[in-house]
Amino acid sequence: MKNKIVLSLIALFLIFSSGAVFTIIYITNMTEEFKYVVELHQVEQFRRSLIINIQNVQSDLYTFNSPYGKDFDSIIVGGTKLEESAKKCTSCHHVPRLNDRIVKVQSLINDYQTALSYFITMSADDAGIDKRKAAAVEIGDRILAQTERMSHSASDILSVETDNIMFDVYHVKEILVTTILVILVFSIMVAVRLIRSVTRPVNALVSATRKITSGEYGTLITYKDKSEFGELADNFNVMSRAVHQGYEKIQQEITDRKLAEEAVKKSEERYMLAARGANDGLWDWDMKLNTIYFSSRWKAMIGHDDNEISDSPEEWLGRIHSDDRLHLEAEMSAHIVGHTPHFKSEHRIKHKDGKYRWVLSRGQAIHDSAENSYRMAGSMTDITERKMAEEQLIFDALHDTLTGLPNRALFMDRLAHAVSRERRNKEYLFAVCFLDMDRFKVLNDSLGHTVGDKLLITISERLEESLRPDDTVARLGGDEFALLLEDLKDRDEALQVAERIQEKLSQPFNLYGQEVFTSTSIGITFSETGYDNPEHLLRDSDIAMYHAKAKGTSCYQIFDKDMYDTAVARLQLETDLRQAVNLNEFNLQYQPIISVETGRITGMEALIRWQHPKKGLISPGDFIPVSEETGLIVKLGEWVIDEACSQLAKWQKQFPSDPPLTISVNIASKQLMPGFVNHIERAIHHSGLTSNSLIIEVTETMIMENAEVVAPMLQQLKKMNVQLHIDDFGTGYSSLSYLHRFPVDVLKIDRSFVSRIGTNGDNLEVIKAITTLAHSLEMHVVAEGVETEEQVSQLKALNCEFMQGYYFSKPLDSKNFEELLQKCHLNLMRYLTHPFDENG
Ligand code: C2E
Ligand code: MG
Ligand code: MG
Repeated sequence: MKNKIVLSLIALFLIFSSGAVFTIIYITNMTEEFKYVVELHQVEQFRRSLIINIQNVQSDLYTFNSPYGKDFDSIIVGGTKLEESAKKCTSCHHVPRLNDRIVKVQSLINDYQTALSYFITMSADDAGIDKRKAAAVEIGDRILAQTERMSHSASDILSVETDNIMFDVYHVKEILVTTILVILVFSIMVAVRLIRSVTRPVNALVSATRKITSGEYGTLITYKDKSEFGELADNFNVMSRAVHQGYEKIQQEITDRKLAEEAVKKSEERYMLAARGANDGLWDWDMKLNTIYFSSRWKAMIGHDDNEISDSPEEWLGRIHSDDRLHLEAEMSAHIVGHTPHFKSEHRIKHKDGKYRWVLSRGQAIHDSAENSYRMAGSMTDITERKMAEEQLIFDALHDTLTGLPNRALFMDRLAHAVSRERRNKEYLFAVCFLDMDRFKVLNDSLGHTVGDKLLITISERLEESLRPDDTVARLGGDEFALLLEDLKDRDEALQVAERIQEKLSQPFNLYGQEVFTSTSIGITFSETGYDNPEHLLRDSDIAMYHAKAKGTSCYQIFDKDMYDTAVARLQLETDLRQAVNLNEFNLQYQPIISVETGRITGMEALIRWQHPKKGLISPGDFIPVSEETGLIVKLGEWVIDEACSQLAKWQKQFPSDPPLTISVNIASKQLMPGFVNHIERAIHHSGLTSNSLIIEVTETMIMENAEVVAPMLQQLKKMNVQLHIDDFGTGYSSLSYLHRFPVDVLKIDRSFVSRIGTNGDNLEVIKAITTLAHSLEMHVVAEGVETEEQVSQLKALNCEFMQGYYFSKPLDSKNFEELLQKCHLNLMRYLTHPFDENG
């Protein structure tokens, strides 16, 4: 701003100065010209006085005839005046032309004076005077003429100069007026600009200030300028922002403070309400006075009224269960000395009713500047229910929910203790018995689960009754129980327990009015064998139990090394089998199925074989159960289905017949899972078989074990025209009602019934019953394991439609079976009349 003002003033000064300079220059010029004009006027003056004087002298000359005339003095006076007149003009020689003339006039005047002095001073004759007089007159006339011309010339110059002066005067006026106008306009402009540059920021400032005053903190001025006002605006903005921030901070502080006050208020209220309504009792221990304030609730929690409990610490500590008091005091001390951030103790406290309640006491100590606790306050919560729930949880975690017996976890824990005791004391003898109910599943399925559960509970009760107090009986799951018989005198003691149990469990069970019989298989392992791992003891008892089961129902078996080796061999088999599945070490053999009516091969059963790299050919009976247990059967079974379908498709093309050849594939229960039907569908599709050429063989047990899942699957297969044969019929499930529920086409009479057919047609009843049942349900019958001609004729007599057995052919590999088919096809060989021996 300051700069602006200074610059404006300098500009004004410059404008003014330049106007003045121009004016001075012009006025200076004019002074010269005025001087010149004055001089020109002097010339005129000179001329006039000269003319008058000369005319006077001339007239005197013309008047006087002689130099002795009476007024001769007037000529002298005239001459003197002439002299003076001439002198007057000696200093005004500005114009050279004029100057020359004046000089000439002066010279002539000198001449005239000389002539006059001659005339005056002479004493000649009249003629000579006249002559002199004439000469003076003639000079006087020339002077007159000369001055006349000089006068003209001066007059011309005067006229020009006067014009010049007038022109300059006019210019001076113009310059002055212009200067004044320019200064005026410029001053107005400067004034306006200065006023604006002052009023704009001031107005902005005023408006921003007003806004701030009315509460719009943080209002900023958008004025940018390098002047002091710009700086003022910047500073104002900084100040406004600072005011705004300060205002917000103050507001926040006010809000925070209000919130804090409210929180404190609420907290106080909450504490008041909590103290009044809380389930917890409160206590406040003044350690200096050694008194405790107990809230009414605290007292009520242990069954006392307010006035029944004093403020003595013993009111609390004295009621604590003796087993818990030391622990509580230790926890309290640990907190007081600063080892724990809080005091926390779960302990029992005596109620007025004499019983103990579980409570959780919590507290916090306050320390003075010397780190000495002078006060501790806290609460007491009744946790009796939680403790009971915990105990229940622990009990549940370690006990079987159905029978209340210890479960596997608890059994293993006790077993581990027994093992470590035996390690310390080699004389210490104990036994582990693994119990499994015989045919429990059948009972459970046939009598229903409620009866099954009741049976298990009753078994567990009988087991408990049969044991000594220190023994443990546990339910491991399902129908499996385990016994830990500790501190035995000798092995016989354990065997006696086992026999006692078997005897007790063979007694009939009366369950909801039904009399049920069961028996149990027991595997026994003794600690003497030197076990380190309790799991191994149980595992070996389990192995022994399987051996006991294999001996028949209600047997016991003591574990020995051979059993272990068998178990290890099984494990090895499992490992080998996994590898075999990955490397596909399997192939299929085919055994023909013969139509009794035509004596021709109607189809074949696909039977899997494992070509073990070391052990050679392994029969399915040796690895199918393991593959089922391990789940490998799913992959293996899929391979069997694919292979059987593609092989049959080939043979159907090679050996066309009406109806076409069929193939029976054995299915394991583990295979009957979602995805099974899809796989069958894909296999049929890929091989190009007609679907009714594929037969799946399942056992009664398999479909009954999981009827809900299996039934819809079998229905789906039926829709696809896949046939369903029940394998090993008669050996499995005792109920026949299921036959209505499943779309069964054929019953395959188990080999065990066929093999019993004697020469005299003995033992035909079962087969007869099965055949009648099948026919009444519009099913056909296949007799398995037909080995003799007698069997053939007896079965034929019983209207058995199909037969299968070594009598016709053992299972053959694909090459040999193909040759068999070839021969039969070409020779129309009839098995029933000309059995085909295994060598072809
Ligand atoms: P299965 O389905 O009852 O098959 C008949 C079994 O009896 C076959 O034994 C067969 O060789 C044998 N056999 C047939 N005729 C006679 C005879 O006249 N006398 C005697 N002593 N035996 C005869 P294999 O092949 O050892 O199969 C045993 C069982 O293994 C089969 O019994 C079947 O349950 C199962 N199995 C075979 N292959 C497969 C398979 O691919 N998958 C499944 N899941 N199981 C299969
Ligand atoms: Mg079969
Ligand atoms: Mg069979």
